[in-house]
Amino acid sequence: MSAYELVVIGGGEAGISAALRATQLGAKVCLINREPELGGGCVQTGTLPSKTLSNAAHFLENLKKGKRYGIPVVEGAKADYKTILESRHKTTMCEVGILASLIRKNAIETLTGIASFKGPRSVKGRAFGSPLARGLYPRASTAEVDPRVKPGAGLPSPGPGKAGAPAAVEVRLLDGTVHAFEAPKTVIATGSRPVALPGLPFDGKTVLSPDDLPALDAVPGRFLIVGAGVIGCEMAFIFRSLGSEVVVVEKAERALLGQDHDVATLITREFKKRGIRLLVQTGLERVETAADGHVRAFLAGAETVEADRVMVAVGRRPNTEELNLAAAGITPGPRGEIQVDERMETMVPGIYAAGDVLARFMLSSMAVVEARIAAENAMGRAVKMDYTCAPWGIYTDPEIGSVGLTEDEARAGGGDVVIGQCGYNDLVRSCLDGNVTGFFKLIFDGPTRRLVGAHVAGQDASEIIHFAALAVKMGARAEDIKDMVYNHPTVSEGFGKAAADALNKFGQRIPA
Ligand SMILES: Cc1cc2nc3c(=O)[nH]c(=O)nc-3n(C[C@H](O)[C@H](O)[C@H](O)COP(=O)(O)OP(=O)(O)OC[C@H]3O[C@@H](n4cnc5c(N)ncnc54)[C@H](O)[C@@H]3O)c2cc1C
Repeated sequence: MSAYELVVIGGGEAGISAALRATQLGAKVCLINREPELGGGCVQTGTLPSKTLSNAAHFLENLKKGKRYGIPVVEGAKADYKTILESRHKTTMCEVGILASLIRKNAIETLTGIASFKGPRSVKGRAFGSPLARGLYPRASTAEVDPRVKPGAGLPSPGPGKAGAPAAVEVRLLDGTVHAFEAPKTVIATGSRPVALPGLPFDGKTVLSPDDLPALDAVPGRFLIVGAGVIGCEMAFIFRSLGSEVVVVEKAERALLGQDHDVATLITREFKKRGIRLLVQTGLERVETAADGHVRAFLAGAETVEADRVMVAVGRRPNTEELNLAAAGITPGPRGEIQVDERMETMVPGIYAAGDVLARFMLSSMAVVEARIAAENAMGRAVKMDYTCAPWGIYTDPEIGSVGLTEDEARAGGGDVVIGQCGYNDLVRSCLDGNVTGFFKLIFDGPTRRLVGAHVAGQDASEIIHFAALAVKMGARAEDIKDMVYNHPTVSEGFGKAAADALNKFGQRIPA
């Protein structure tokens, strides 16, 4: 008999969410994490640290707006990077404390060490397919996860076997001792790590991954960013505001592949306005690093770029190599990702997975929900993951919030689609705030007038997009969105105006 009903491998957002939900449902849970401090990438290196940096950058940009009220603006005001990092450290420690207290209060046992599966295990033969193939995803992911690679591609058929045998899990603790036990139910939430370019390993000093930014000692004078996906674009705006000269190189034909094309166009225009140089369809061929850390990057097409630091943000790889998945009967996908069905269950009954290790959206927001679904199913409930109304928040300047289908996806296959639009410059709130850059783009299904996608680029977009996410989920029609009463003056009024614009196009003469 196992001492635990559920073993969770990985103590990031996904692992903690799974452990907490299973405990609420009455399970005795053991949470295994490689590091003594919980929180994973979200707390230690990714979401929170990057948002501390973007807060500082926004603050600096907003300072410039004081002029409109006669508040003197200090020309050339700069932020001190070390102080930003101290602020980041305080936020991280605060969140680590909150997580530790939650774990304690819920009597979740934790082990610090590296977990892996051990011993043979039978696999139940059952139908298993890619969620993308079944149309569960609203659209492909960003350049962080190559959107051209379909999750589930090359999925092996599970062999015959019997269900329900507990998984044998082994944990190598920090002091080298090995702890082994059987777990009736397991959630794998081991996250991901950044991918380096061939011949250009991360050194944490000159060639950085996004995970290294909290350890950077100063704002680089010249910053070369490889990859114009979500993280590359966020960092380009941040470091430009903090004072770097920024060049972004992207192999694909545009930035923010996977996002709506109008969003990418706006961000490209804003790059230009800010003096951020974006080179698309440009590969990085090689890099020479001088002894003083100075970098010369050779781009395809014979151009060279000089930089003080290079950040490579071209994707992330799931952490599965150390898990000995074969012993559990799991064959990972082509990128090492764990493949699951809508219940977050792997091909092996009783073993679930959630978060970055799935290589789907690679967002904390999604990791938390996937893990909750995994835990509920592990505890005997029957719930499914629904990605159709899951929003994106991208913390560029301006921000981006999006949900559902892009215009290209909605039109694919000749669909009858009506687009409603409103510019931020049509909103009095935006004029008041001096934030008139951006737009609302609502995508409606022609025959039903239901909202199937929304893309907002502008002030507070990552906050207000939740309204559209609920509208997609509830199947709201253009008239439902237009007829809402909106607080005035707010940026959310843009939803009403964009819906009115769509109704105009549907043939009703309603002034937008
Ligand atoms: C720069 C940056 C900015 C980001 N910004 C955002 C944002 O604004 N919004 C958003 O939603 N997302 C954002 N993300 C993504 C977000 O950080 C991740 O999606 C999230 O952290 C994934 O959580 P996870 O629990 O799946 O994995 P992780 O956070 O990677 O946690 C996995 C944990 O498992 C441990 N582990 C691995 N292998 C083992 C093993 N064998 N045994 C035991 N433990 C193991 C790891 O050490 C780690 O602690 C950002 C990411 C980056 C890099």
